[in-house]
Amino acid sequence: MDIQFLGTGAGQPSKARNVSSLALKLLDEINEVWLFDCGEGTQNRILETTIRPRKVSKIFITHLHGDHIFGLPGFLSSRAFQANEEQTDLDIYGPQGIKSFVLTSLRVSGSRLPYRIHFHEFDQDSLGKILETDKFTVYAEELDHTIFCVGYRVMQKDLEGTLDADKLKAAGVPFGPLFGKIKNGQDVVLDDGTEIKATDYISAPRPGKVVTILGDTRKTNASVRLAVNADVLVHESTYGKGDEKIARNHGHSTNMQAAQVAAEAGAKRLLLNHISARFLSKDISQLKKDAATVFENVHVVKDLEEVEI
Ligand SMILES: [Zn+2]
Repeated sequence: MDIQFLGTGAGQPSKARNVSSLALKLLDEINEVWLFDCGEGTQNRILETTIRPRKVSKIFITHLHGDHIFGLPGFLSSRAFQANEEQTDLDIYGPQGIKSFVLTSLRVSGSRLPYRIHFHEFDQDSLGKILETDKFTVYAEELDHTIFCVGYRVMQKDLEGTLDADKLKAAGVPFGPLFGKIKNGQDVVLDDGTEIKATDYISAPRPGKVVTILGDTRKTNASVRLAVNADVLVHESTYGKGDEKIARNHGHSTNMQAAQVAAEAGAKRLLLNHISARFLSKDISQLKKDAATVFENVHVVKDLEEVEI
């Protein structure tokens, strides 16, 4: 499981940072890629990666500000131009209004897609668990921005324990149907009377990963709830230390507030994005340094950077 950042800038694109989008690559887990936000130019950034648009099966939108959604019509249209490739459906999750934005853009521009889009819109009253599959559950909760905006908590379900084949062979279990029985948790008795307890040969289930991806927000308890014990918290850092007042006025957070959220939530790792173009590279290292005084495992991400989870 990886996150690849497609746009890490705030508000408008700069040469170094495009507007918001990131890809949660679940290729090993389910052979899919999930996009979170889709600012203008996201499809151009994708061209610089190994991501195949057809693999993007779900898009999660945090809020309807332009720097988070203006890339949707272009991406959705280009996704259709993949000749020889099977056209697969796509799900879009987001605040009420996202369906109208997408359908209007497609209709006005005369764009016809050869695949279906399933919209899952929500408002303040319909948040909580928004998706459950056999491998993942996704929760959304309202944050505190200038318009309705949510954060997402993606929880991988626990992974089944694996069978220790070498240990079984060493115990004299002949390779064959017995392996299958033991794998299914059944105890067996060998011809020589040896009892084999399945639990001795299956490793304990491994806990699934938790990834928290927040939209734009002031510091709020909802962020902490979404990020509890997360393996990775992706948090905006539109402003730096000392800018708390202006951050509040504009519905955003500072690096210090993001670090406080990570610390309060007991997250393992904090990735800062939504970085203002005002920040030069020396400011970026200062952003990290200051945040690290509150939460040590912090990193300011760049466009196209890939982080393994
Ligand atoms: Zn915004």
